[in-house]
Amino acid sequence: MQLNTLHDLLIHEPRELHSAEKQLSKALPKMAKAATSPKLKKGFEKHLTETEGQIKRLDQIFAELDVSSRGPKCAAMEGLVEEGSELIKTAGDDNVKDAALIGAAQRVEHYEMAGYGTARAFAELLGLPKIAKLLQATLDEEGATNKKLTELAESEINAEALAE
Ligand code: FE
Ligand code: FE
Repeated sequence: MQLNTLHDLLIHEPRELHSAEKQLSKALPKMAKAATSPKLKKGFEKHLTETEGQIKRLDQIFAELDVSSRGPKCAAMEGLVEEGSELIKTAGDDNVKDAALIGAAQRVEHYEMAGYGTARAFAELLGLPKIAKLLQATLDEEGATNKKLTELAESEINAEALAE
């Protein structure tokens, strides 16, 4: 595909996000399994359900734009997931590893927030409020997830890791 117009970019960005979300939906169960804290485990499981809904929202966007979801594999998410699986494989203290998992997950959320925020801005500029709204709904979920991860780290997990 070529990128000649903002509309081309509005197709490209959600395709990239679609690949990212698909990869993440395979990684989140492994992160949930690797987490020791029940709250962190639950958080990852909850975000898996949300992620599945986010993929559906992207599918709605492709239907709206009358294009397929097919695009290149998101290399950035591939790298982030790879970092997460390296972490999971690393031997160490459970609490310290939980703190590390939160760091890996927040990298993912920030990446997604950047992507959804960018795509939403394009949709707004192009006068496509229905698409902008779908993108904003996911952006809100990613933001809330990121915030919850910060709260969990600051309220307990970092302190538990420090106590080791
Ligand atoms: Fe997501
Ligand atoms: Fe997310």
